[in-house]
Amino acid sequence: MQIKHSETLKKKDDKYIWHAMRPYQPEATMVIEQGEGAWITDIEGNRYLDGMSGLWCVNVGYGREELAQAAYEQLKQLSYYPMTHSHVSAIRLAEKLNEWLGGQDEYVFFFSNSGSEANETAFKIARQYHKQRGEHDRYKFVARYRAYHGNTMAALAATGQAQRKYRYEPLGTGFLHVTPPDLYRGPGLEAAEELEKVLAWELPETVAAVIMEPIITGGGIIMPPDDYLQAVREICDRYGVLLIIDEVICGFGRTGERFGFMHYGIKPDIISMAKGITSAYIPLSATAVKREIYEAFKGADNYEYFRHVNTFGGHPGACAVAVRNLEIMEEERLVERSRELGERMLNDLKGLEETHPYVGNVRGKGLLVGIELVQDKETKAPLGVEQVNKVIAACKKRGLIITKNGDTVAGYNNVIALAPPLSITDDDYAFIVEVLKEGLAEIG
Ligand code: PLP
Repeated sequence: MQIKHSETLKKKDDKYIWHAMRPYQPEATMVIEQGEGAWITDIEGNRYLDGMSGLWCVNVGYGREELAQAAYEQLKQLSYYPMTHSHVSAIRLAEKLNEWLGGQDEYVFFFSNSGSEANETAFKIARQYHKQRGEHDRYKFVARYRAYHGNTMAALAATGQAQRKYRYEPLGTGFLHVTPPDLYRGPGLEAAEELEKVLAWELPETVAAVIMEPIITGGGIIMPPDDYLQAVREICDRYGVLLIIDEVICGFGRTGERFGFMHYGIKPDIISMAKGITSAYIPLSATAVKREIYEAFKGADNYEYFRHVNTFGGHPGACAVAVRNLEIMEEERLVERSRELGERMLNDLKGLEETHPYVGNVRGKGLLVGIELVQDKETKAPLGVEQVNKVIAACKKRGLIITKNGDTVAGYNNVIALAPPLSITDDDYAFIVEVLKEGLAEIG
């Protein structure tokens, strides 16, 4: 009966559903039915530890009744009202987010539904802000190769992965890219010098903003030198360019700080956040904007306000869940847990750089860990994708889901990524490390 049921569902899935970001391969589709803690169960009863928190987003783990309850209570009381006005949960969330951002009430929030929209919103705010201050020529954005910023036409234009854009171009215009720093392959701090040169060549007075993740996540968990972001901040200040930090993955404890930029002692002008804001229990994103920028939109001219809306952004149910989600992270000290377990994981896996023939580099911050596989440790030539897939399949066979950095970065699909829920137990942790080692041993 159970088998019959799952076969029918799989056939219907194949018939009706267009899957995200995957070549057509119906036999590989998992139909997931349940989640509890770090574990998911499919309709055939197979259990997996979700080492990727879905798409790097289920930060507090699956199956939290309190979050379902928070949504239920809110929807009963007020199911919807648009953010052209306001509602209690949005106000509570904005206050809470300011606490998470350092408690100085420096930011004002525009709510949307996805990370892509949070970035689109950031781009529109940045362009309009400069225009309202009389700097009409500032329209360009500088982003970095290898980074992903979203699927919409401008967020994809900001993305520095050619394979993602191929066949969808032309995209939004005005986006330029520079090389990211990479502690393993280089460049180091010279990457900031490159940014400054590009600003000079482009005429800084034509540039609206720089956008970057604190640590490039989907592009390969690429670590910057500790002083890189500080250098970028100084360059942006020198040329009157806004700094947008994309915290869609790095935010909400993923890297062992509340937000990724907090490792590097800077303050962004604009911050995009999504995913972990609700631990993906309901869609929600936010664009946090420094108060001075917001103030520039208060003029009397008919075009001076921000003429941007989305129907569902800041949905009451989502905001109520986000508030409770952040409270859970505080109560269970999940940011600290992420930091501690991340350090432990680096310790436990770092030795593979010496002992495993293809492990070139193990790196990360918090529960955001990358294992870069290479053919040769001298040349650092990336290991072929078939070998990387073998490790992923070996882990899956043993009940652990991990991934690699997409099929989106030319020649560099060789970084295994791990981003489990921040709430993993000690047993979960031990399971991840053990299975990962076994999976890697299959190519060792
Ligand atoms: N920015 C980063 C760094 C991301 O990783 C993603 C998605 O993975 C996005 C933006 C876009 O978010 P969404 O898929 O919610 O639109």
